[in-house]
Amino acid sequence: MASTVILVTGGTGLVGKAIQYVIETEPEGSRFGKKPGEQWIFASSSEGDLRDPVQTRKLFEKYKPTHVIHLAALVGGLFKNMKYKLTFYRDNSLINDNVLQTSYETGVKKVISCLSTCVFPDKVTYPLDETKIHLGLPHDSNFGYAHAKRMVDVANHAYKAQYGCNFTSAIPTNVFGPYDNFDLEDSHVIPGLLHKCYLAKKNGTPFVVGGTGKPLRQFIYSRDLAKLFIWQLREYDDVEPVIFSVGEDEEVSIKQVADAIVKAIGFEGQYSFDTTKADGQFRKPATNKKLLSLIGDDFKFTPFEQALDETAKWFVENYDKARI
Ligand code: NDP
Repeated sequence: MASTVILVTGGTGLVGKAIQYVIETEPEGSRFGKKPGEQWIFASSSEGDLRDPVQTRKLFEKYKPTHVIHLAALVGGLFKNMKYKLTFYRDNSLINDNVLQTSYETGVKKVISCLSTCVFPDKVTYPLDETKIHLGLPHDSNFGYAHAKRMVDVANHAYKAQYGCNFTSAIPTNVFGPYDNFDLEDSHVIPGLLHKCYLAKKNGTPFVVGGTGKPLRQFIYSRDLAKLFIWQLREYDDVEPVIFSVGEDEEVSIKQVADAIVKAIGFEGQYSFDTTKADGQFRKPATNKKLLSLIGDDFKFTPFEQALDETAKWFVENYDKARI
């Protein structure tokens, strides 16, 4: 019988699928591979709607987890976040409260919840670090989602103070990889542009990227992020969050992203930037100093172009079943 049961909520999404991939492909017993006595459960919403406390309890009673990696969330791009602020606030608050409270009530030994760099204040000094979460209001465009996520950090501290729980959180920057949401209207930049470029090649139409291509962002490959969650589960026991990101010197511009996509898809048609479209913030760098000081400098992130190639390959091969 398994002595450690790890329940991954949101186990069927971009990040959950990547954790499953790493656990199943890294050598057994290695730093990121499956360890003896471990059972991993990757739950989807069809096994229980975590907005509902009764369904949450049933899921926990079914699997009896000793550890939880809590990824489940209502996630969306800018448009959906702006349009449904209350839904993002309520659904995510309910999901997070049910998961943490049920974990406490059923004696889960450790919970890692997933925040996002959206939780940070809109007006803040850069680079972002783990001490700056609560220093001001988040950006108005996603304040519902951001506030619900921020409160997980508040809850983690309160569960620790009142009950001594080992609850903590991770703050990833922009994630991409296989199993992402490739919707054309409401996805993040990489999956959205990959899909657009794929269609431009298929239909023989121009590939037009919104904005100047100049803004810089930090992207993390979902399979690298997966390793960081596995590390945090096994090797980090502190309530304070850890930013999961590539270094500040590894920012890439949207033009570099688009160039890499053109190459990965093999697009040879007309390719341009629509500079009448808004660019968004020029950069919002986050530091990964805390992460590297803990995990060790020998942790290697996958080079951006390689990660993008793997993602593009997955998308093309799985076009019929991808979220589009
Ligand atoms: P996805 O949208 O790919 O997956 C979301 C997961 O949550 C799915 O497994 C989904 O289940 C599950 N889920 C959604 N609603 C419910 C619900 N009511 N009850 C139970 N399960 C539910 O998200 P990601 O993998 O991209 O995100 C994972 C985490 O990472 C989230 O917490 C997100 O906030 C965070 N994050 C993501 C970033 C990104 O760039 N993608 C950046 C920073 C943080 P199903 O599909 O079965 O319905």
